[in-house]
Amino acid sequence: MSHRDEIAIVGAGLSGCLLACYLARRGYRVELYERRPDPRLGTAERGRSINLALSERGLDALRRIGLEDQVMADALPMRGRMIHPVDGPLDYQQYSHDGERAINSISRGALNNVLLDAAEAAPGVTIFFDHRLTGLDPRTGGMTYETADGEVRTTASVVLGADGAGSVVRGRLVAEPGAEVHTEFLNYGYKELTVPAVDGEFALDPGALHIWPRGTSMMIALPNPDRSFTCTMFWPAEGEGSFAALNTPAAIENHFRAHYPDVVPLAPDLVDDYLHNPVGVLGTVRCAPWQTGGRVALIGDAAHAIVPFYGQGANCGFEDVVELDQCLTETGGDWARALPLFEERRKANADAIGEMALENFVEMRDKVASPVFRFVKGAEHALERALPGRFVSRYELVSFSTVPYAQVRRRVRRQQRALGGAAVLLASALATGLYRIGRKA
Ligand code: FAD
Repeated sequence: MSHRDEIAIVGAGLSGCLLACYLARRGYRVELYERRPDPRLGTAERGRSINLALSERGLDALRRIGLEDQVMADALPMRGRMIHPVDGPLDYQQYSHDGERAINSISRGALNNVLLDAAEAAPGVTIFFDHRLTGLDPRTGGMTYETADGEVRTTASVVLGADGAGSVVRGRLVAEPGAEVHTEFLNYGYKELTVPAVDGEFALDPGALHIWPRGTSMMIALPNPDRSFTCTMFWPAEGEGSFAALNTPAAIENHFRAHYPDVVPLAPDLVDDYLHNPVGVLGTVRCAPWQTGGRVALIGDAAHAIVPFYGQGANCGFEDVVELDQCLTETGGDWARALPLFEERRKANADAIGEMALENFVEMRDKVASPVFRFVKGAEHALERALPGRFVSRYELVSFSTVPYAQVRRRVRRQQRALGGAAVLLASALATGLYRIGRKA
């Protein structure tokens, strides 16, 4: 296959646009197909603004292609989490041991627009909006798109599915014999609310990611450049305290007064937002294989949708792009070798962050409020200062490094075993000491 080959990318979301930029840099002709109209021309869907926390993995991918500064111009750094109890004072917990490292709040729409501009400006990239993939033959690369003018058929040497969690490309791949897909929906949904600016100023501290942990549910808020905050409730979909159970203005207001009292005066449109904004679904998708015949492959959420509680979905998709680019370099642009290599290297990492994201939901909605959690975080930061480079917390490794996710899991387990061993030694030393003191007394 030569660099003249045409590559089709399905989905001009975050991963698809960045991938188009990387492939254009390698000299490929890229056709980028998107089912939606051009989002730069229209208005965003109500209640689906989604603020992302962009961290080192995503920034690294953007940096390598010269887009970091442009993206960061729209971003707001958050150096810690701010815990809002039902009553009592706010509790600020810095993310890194020096309090300096930040994750960055950015609107998914704004980020997508920057990437669309970059893809459009890249030589050899053509974007087709209002093209919904409806059919794909993985053996020939033949594709069918539904457009306003009827069905369009086309073909490409390589087809890359960057079409998100509900991927049509994945549907076609897993229909092959021996392929498998597991979709695990969480029994939780999400809904957005807005806390507007007050007299042109932020109503909450813009340097933190705000969390209202409430045991079985939670709400978070991330700052926006217009000085508003987008709050996202993660609540059970059904049953007590669920979105389904709360559906009248009085019940909504009473619930917020009881569980989120400090938000009520800050969110004048609370009831309207609650009643009219949609409830999104959350889930994890694991599938195999990610590619077939070195001709059709998945990338980003299409390959590995995860729940958002580690703020890593987009970061992971961007890291996929860097890895695929690396595989193309190592194989001299031989897609038949590059795509299996890409899957081999990324699958275990995607599985690892999928698991860590699920674990972090419990941490965010419940544990962050406890004094034990605060103590553990303090101890982790103290160890990081005392043993620089030798002890690194999981949060730091996931959010502020590019250590592969699967390695992060292994390293954290090793550290926990070592600390467990040290704690046992300390406890037995203390117990022996107490015993001796007891015998002397
Ligand atoms: P998508 O962004 O879903 O893009 C897929 C694109 O494909 C879309 O443009 C879609 O219109 C198009 N498409 C779909 N089907 C077709 C078709 N048949 N034909 C043509 N086009 C098609 N990630 C983080 O890194 N940090 C966070 O803090 C974070 N917070 C999140 C909070 C919430 C509430 C949610 C829901 C997600 C969050 N994420 C976060 C995850 C992040 O949004 C996703 O991981 C990321 O958007 C995935 O990018 P993608 O390009 O793979 O897929």
